[in-house]
Amino acid sequence: MSFRAKSRNPDEVVFKLAAGSLDFARDDEQYMSLLVVGSIALDTVKTPVEEHADLLGGSASYAALGASFFTPVNLVGVVGDDFPESEFEFWKSHRIDTTGVQRVNGKTFRWSGEYAWDLNTRETRSVALNVFETFSPELPANYRATPFVLLANIAPKLQSHVLDQMERPRFIVADTMDLWIETTRADLDALLRRVDLLILNDSEAREMTKETSLIRAGRKIRECGPRYVAIKKGEHGALLFGEDEFFSAGAYPLEDIHDPTGAGDTFAGGFAGYLAAHVRENVTFDVMRKAVIYGSVLASFCVEAFSLERLRKLTQDEIADRYQMFKMMSQFEVLA
Ligand code: AMP
Repeated sequence: MSFRAKSRNPDEVVFKLAAGSLDFARDDEQYMSLLVVGSIALDTVKTPVEEHADLLGGSASYAALGASFFTPVNLVGVVGDDFPESEFEFWKSHRIDTTGVQRVNGKTFRWSGEYAWDLNTRETRSVALNVFETFSPELPANYRATPFVLLANIAPKLQSHVLDQMERPRFIVADTMDLWIETTRADLDALLRRVDLLILNDSEAREMTKETSLIRAGRKIRECGPRYVAIKKGEHGALLFGEDEFFSAGAYPLEDIHDPTGAGDTFAGGFAGYLAAHVRENVTFDVMRKAVIYGSVLASFCVEAFSLERLRKLTQDEIADRYQMFKMMSQFEVLA
C-alpha cells in the first residue's frame, strides 16, 4: 500500500513555514526550544528476519531527532569514549545543541532486544548500564531557562533531578516504562506531581493503575498529578486525556515495518517538539490533538528502518504529505 497526498491545504503551508528547513532560524527561537533528557545508547536489535549491532539508540536520541523537525533541541545525556564523534556532527546539523551531553571514560550504555513475528512483543536480551550507572544530568547554564521540557525515558529520580535545575519551564512532558513502575514507584509518583503530561503505553497504564479499561486508567493517572495523559496503543493509535477533554487517534497504517525500536520515543519527541513550536500563549487541547498526530507521523517513519536511519533522511515535505494523508484517512463526514 502506498499513500500520497494529492493536494496540501493551507494548514500544511503554515506548518511548513513554521517548521522550515533544518537550518531554519527565527528571532524568537529561544522561546520555543525544547530540552530533551534521556538515554543515549548503542543498541543491538534482532527481528525474525534481520539483526543489527551497535546502532545509535536510546530514548533521547529518538526523541531529540523527532523533535528537531519542529524546534531547536537542547540535549542532555551521557556517552562513553566508544561513541562515534560523527553523531555529534549529525546532531549539530539538526539544530540539536549537544553542550549538555557529557562524554566520559568508559563504555556507552548498551541495550539489546529481540522481537517476535508480530513485531510488537519484545524481549530485552541484555542491558549494560556502563557510563549510565553513575550518570547525574547537569544542565549547562544556557539550558536552564528552556521553556519546554521532555523527560524521555530514564529513571524518574534522574528526570526529577533535571527539573530541580530548571527555571520555571512552561510545559513538562514525561515518558516512562514498566521497569520504573515496577521498581521505583515512589520516585515515579513524586515526579508525576511535577509534570504537565505523562506519556506511557497501554500495558504500562494498566499496570500502573490496575485497571483493565484504558479510559479509567487515563483518568486515574490524571489524579496522580499530570493535567494531561497520553496513552500509546502501538499499531492501534493513541488516546489523549485532559480534564473534560478526550481525543482518540488512529495509527498510520504501514505495510513495511522493519524495526519498532524507538517508536514511542519518537512519538514523544514529535509531540513535544510540535507543542514547543506552536504554543504561544497557553497550551490548548487543539494544539495537543495536532501534536498527537505529528508524533504519530514521526513514529510511523521511525519504524520503516532500523535505528534512526529513516529519520536521518526524512524531509519536511514527507512529514507534511503523511500528515495530510492521516487527515484524509481519519475524515468520516463527506467533505462539502
Ligand atoms: P522504545 O522502543 O520506545 O521502548 O525505546 C527503545 C530504546 O530505549 C532503545 O534504543 C534503548 O536503548 C532504550 N532503553 C532500553 N532500556 C532502557 C532503560 N532502562 N532506560 C533508558 N533507556 C532504555
